[in-house]
Amino acid sequence: MSVMPFDQREGVIWFNGELIPWADAKIHVLTHALHYASAVFEGERAYGGEIFKLAEHTQRLFDSAAMLDMKIPYKVAEIEEACRETLARQGFANAYVRPIAWRGSEMMGVSAQTTKINVAIAIWQWPAYFDPAQLETGIKLDIAEWRRPDPKTAPALAKAVGLYMICTLSKHAAERKGFADALMLDWRGQIAECTGANIFFVKDGELHTPVPDCFLDGITRRTVIELARRRQITVNERVIWPEELIGFEQCFIVGTAAEVTPVGQIGTYKFPVGDLARTLRADYLAEVQPTKVAAE
Ligand code: PMP
Repeated sequence: MSVMPFDQREGVIWFNGELIPWADAKIHVLTHALHYASAVFEGERAYGGEIFKLAEHTQRLFDSAAMLDMKIPYKVAEIEEACRETLARQGFANAYVRPIAWRGSEMMGVSAQTTKINVAIAIWQWPAYFDPAQLETGIKLDIAEWRRPDPKTAPALAKAVGLYMICTLSKHAAERKGFADALMLDWRGQIAECTGANIFFVKDGELHTPVPDCFLDGITRRTVIELARRRQITVNERVIWPEELIGFEQCFIVGTAAEVTPVGQIGTYKFPVGDLARTLRADYLAEVQPTKVAAE
């Protein structure tokens, strides 16, 4: 893993409409987003020079901004084009794409009605989110103490930076105990998702995944559901309680960064890495390739 700090990397960053040197993409310490979490972002992956589901990600960035009462001062198509242009300038075939929109420094206080909404896009190489050596046995998940909030408590469906506070805390706690990540329950105690990925279980040849009513309905999640249905596999989107963990036969998590990663253990429950998890991982890795997408 590279130890190069993120502010000292090479290349360009798209910053409010311009490509500027990576090192110059700075903001002031009195930025509303830093003090009041007024920022939303995306996480995208490029494969073979093309950003997978760029239109869906870009639309979600705008939807997340709207949920935070922020209006991005660009058109969706302009941000899509900016992502493509930045990728081309960075010169990577396979990369991670991070657009972010945030409130600036014009007002410092809870109210920030007239602050500028800024947008930046940074692209770097991010090979595998989890240790590839763990693909055979599956990663180990802790069960987090923090719970996904009630949508009446926070804009739970937005990809908003404030929601990641409990994710970082949960992932730190998990890593300290030797787990790779944490499974988070929701405010009702139902199984929700991981700190940066959605979760699927297998039982009797069918998939089971929680209803995304208080957490991100991931683009990878929707892709995997479609891939499973193409194979005539039944997908049950339903309420799942932790008591059911004992009866599940396989488990895997899905996300742009995590792709499809098998899970070998959650707390004290163990799962073998089975054929269905392997098949859907292979299907996903085929689906993200640009030739495949273009052929459809
Ligand atoms: N949940 C959380 C909390 C995430 O950060 C992510 C990654 N964006 C996901 C789920 C998966 O979403 P996607 O498949 O759209 O990347």
